Amino acid sequence: MKVTEKKKAIFLDRDGVINKEVSYLSNPDDFEFIDGSVDALRILKQKHFLLIVITNQAGIARGFFTEETLKLIHNKMISILKQNMIELNDIYYCPHHPEFTGPCDCRKPNSGMILKAKLKYNIDLSNSYMVGDTLNDIETGKAAKCKTVLVLTGYGKEEQKKIRSIIPDMIFKNLKEFAINI
Ligand SMILES: [Mg+2]
Ligand SMILES: [Zn+2]
Repeated sequence: MKVTEKKKAIFLDRDGVINKEVSYLSNPDDFEFIDGSVDALRILKQKHFLLIVITNQAGIARGFFTEETLKLIHNKMISILKQNMIELNDIYYCPHHPEFTGPCDCRKPNSGMILKAKLKYNIDLSNSYMVGDTLNDIETGKAAKCKTVLVLTGYGKEEQKKIRSIIPDMIFKNLKEFAINI
């Protein structure tokens, strides 16, 4: 019997980690990579991690933009990465917001999106990382029993000051510093 090897993954929050934080990013023209994040994704890929984006997009539930627009934004991200010979393994997003669409298990800090990816890709969560710029992301990673990384881009610096009971395993200046040092 062949035992398939479990894979390790980097679960990446999108806004404030990969691209510059813009409140409710709703126009592909406003999608801009954070300095070094493309390099970071390349380095992480070379280190044999699956790259999986895990993003809350409540702007859809709120009616600020549609899933079609989100697709255009993601296509822009994917095509720039492709020009740099980098491929994301998957993108999971939660389009919900409890006030508009009721509760769901995918909206971070719930770990639904990570658990879905774990089943699809046979991921070893204990050797995987959740990287985000908010303590909400850290809580998500902890709920899924991943290692957790706060980056100080996006809301990261403000969030670092709020650290009390939810403590990230690691803190890095940005995604590239994490990628180099992991
Ligand atoms: Mg974020
Ligand atoms: Zn959801």
